[in-house]
Amino acid sequence: MIPAKGSQAHPEPWKEELRRAFTHVDDLLRFLEIDPDCAGDLTLAARDFAVRVPRGFAELMRKGDRGDPLLLQVLPSAQEVSPLAEGDEDPVGDAAAAQGAGVLKKYRGRALLLATSACAVNCRYCFRRHFPYRQLSLRHDIIDEMVATLRRDPNLREVILSGGDPLMLDDDQLEEILSRLREVTQLRRLRLHTRLPVVLPERVTPRLGRLLRHTSLLSIIVVQVNHPNELGSAAREALRALREQGSTLLNQSVLLRGVNDDPEILTALSESLIHAHVIPYYLHQLDPVRGGTHFAVSDRRAREIANRLRADLPGYLIPRLVREIPGAASKQPLC
Ligand SMILES: *Cc1c(COP(=O)(O)O)cnc(C)c1O
Ligand code: SF4
Repeated sequence: MIPAKGSQAHPEPWKEELRRAFTHVDDLLRFLEIDPDCAGDLTLAARDFAVRVPRGFAELMRKGDRGDPLLLQVLPSAQEVSPLAEGDEDPVGDAAAAQGAGVLKKYRGRALLLATSACAVNCRYCFRRHFPYRQLSLRHDIIDEMVATLRRDPNLREVILSGGDPLMLDDDQLEEILSRLREVTQLRRLRLHTRLPVVLPERVTPRLGRLLRHTSLLSIIVVQVNHPNELGSAAREALRALREQGSTLLNQSVLLRGVNDDPEILTALSESLIHAHVIPYYLHQLDPVRGGTHFAVSDRRAREIANRLRADLPGYLIPRLVREIPGAASKQPLC
C-alpha cells in the first residue's frame, strides 16, 4: 500500500469528518428526529450494503421528514432485500470490461481506473454495490500493472479515476498516481468522478488544488448531485476552490424515483449547479442493480421530464439523458 504519511499525529480535518460519519441507521434517524420504527428490516438491508452518511450531508436534510430527498438516497429500505428484488449484480458489464488490475476499458480513448473501493457516502441505488471491491487495493505492483495496461493503448487520451470515490485516496496517494501517469505519454486529460466535494467538502484541501493545478493534464471533475438541497454553502465553497484552481466542473445525476423525478426539481438543480460553476453533463437512467430497482423511473416518464427541461432551460443547462448498455460503444441517449 502507499503509506499515508503524517496522518497519525495530525489527522486532516476531512479524515476526522469521515470518521464521524453516521454508520448506524438508528443514530442517523435520531439525529433527524425521526422515529426509527421498522428498524429490523432496515438493519437487514444495512447488513447487505453498509450505511455511511457524513454529518455535513445529514445536516442538509430536513428534520422529521422521512421522505427527504437526501435521506432517501442513503436510508436502507426493506425493498432492497425483498425476495422479489429485481436486478443484476453487475448491471453495466464491468466484469467483462476489466483489463487487468483495476482498469475498465469500455469506450474509445478513455480508460477508467478503479482507484479505491471506498466512498464517503453509500448511495442505496449504487450500481457498484455488489462489485467485488475487496480484490482492489492500491499496492505499488498494482499501479505498475495499471500503468503498463494504459501504455499499451496508443489511442488513450483520458484517464478517469473512479471507484468507489477516488478522493477517498489521500493527497499522498493521489500524488503518486498522478506522478506515475506521466509515464503514459499519450495521455492528455485526467477526469475524477467524485461525490466528495459535495458530501464531504472538507476533502477539497489546498494541497489537492495544487496537485491538480500542477499536473500537465487538463483536469475535469465530474461530481454527482441529484437534488439542489445537496448544494449547501460548504459544498459551493469547495466547488469554487476547485474551479479557481483551473478544473472544469461537470455534474452527473441519477434519475431517482421519489428524489428528483420531477422537472421542477431538475430545473432548480441545473440553475443551482451553474451558479456553483458546474455544468450539467448527464442524467442517468438507473442501472438495474439488484437491491436498487425501487428507485427506477420508466423510460416514458424520463423522456417526458427531459422534454420539459428542454422547453424550460437554455441548452447548456440540459443534461443528456442516457443509459449504460453493456457492450455499447458509448452511453446511450434516450432522446
Ligand atoms: C461512463 C464511463 C466512461 C465515461 O463515459 P463518458 O461518456 O465519456 O462520460 C468511461 N469508461 C467507463 C468504463 C464508463 O463506465
Ligand atoms: S460509487 Fe458513487 S454512487 Fe456509488 S456509493 Fe459511492 S458515491 Fe455513491
